[in-house]
Amino acid sequence: MSDPKKMITTDAVVISRREAGDSGFYLTVLSPDMGLLDVTVRGAKKYGASNSAASQLFSCSRLCLSQSKGRYYINSSEPVRSFYGLRLDIQKLALASYFAQIVSHTVTENQTANDVYRLFTNSLYMLSERSAPCGFVKFVFEMRICADLGLMPGLIGCADCYRTEPKMYFLIKEGILLCPKDAHIRVVYDSPDNVMLTAGMIEALRHVCLSEMEKIFSFRVSDEALVRLGDVSERYICYHMGRHFDTLDFYRSLQ
Ligand SMILES: [Zn+2]
Repeated sequence: MSDPKKMITTDAVVISRREAGDSGFYLTVLSPDMGLLDVTVRGAKKYGASNSAASQLFSCSRLCLSQSKGRYYINSSEPVRSFYGLRLDIQKLALASYFAQIVSHTVTENQTANDVYRLFTNSLYMLSERSAPCGFVKFVFEMRICADLGLMPGLIGCADCYRTEPKMYFLIKEGILLCPKDAHIRVVYDSPDNVMLTAGMIEALRHVCLSEMEKIFSFRVSDEALVRLGDVSERYICYHMGRHFDTLDFYRSLQ
């Protein structure tokens, strides 16, 4: 039996929140060390309550947790970032909720989730503190979380001849590039799932999937290219994760 008084300290970001009685909340938090955790916080609604800041949706804190009868409780907390800017913009808030739904679909309890934690909090930072466009952050998040979870497409060159051409087809369902010649041999035509990408778009995909985490937002593409890439990344994640995200429908309804 685990020691009921054992304390655990971890960084965490709140990805969902429900009411717990008159004064508390049930939170689901993402921790880099422990994956997704269900945590109860008592008394956080009271004016001036010590754990109030740590209970806000998407706030990032260092939590001291106690464990009792299989549940975690916040004992104390030290806020790190509130990402307050998300609460001022419904589109950013909707996008953050979509990211949170993807995280809750892909991460489980008792697993390390360092890459996903960094991607999620860096994406919230770009939206909240750096005023990065939603479409840009969405493209990066969708492709990078696929790459981090072992769903990375083959981006080095054509899947059949290994060459890189100025324009190549990206086959979303297969997750491969094809040069025009091999696309012709395979009888691949333009469709929503088979899209011709320019060298700049392919470079952007490679950058997002293959760069070190701290560099993934450091690139620029034209607005027109970003629209095409955003369509690719959205189709890619929905197909390869094999599910529909209702938070994505809400985000899209705001556009
Ligand atoms: Zn080829």
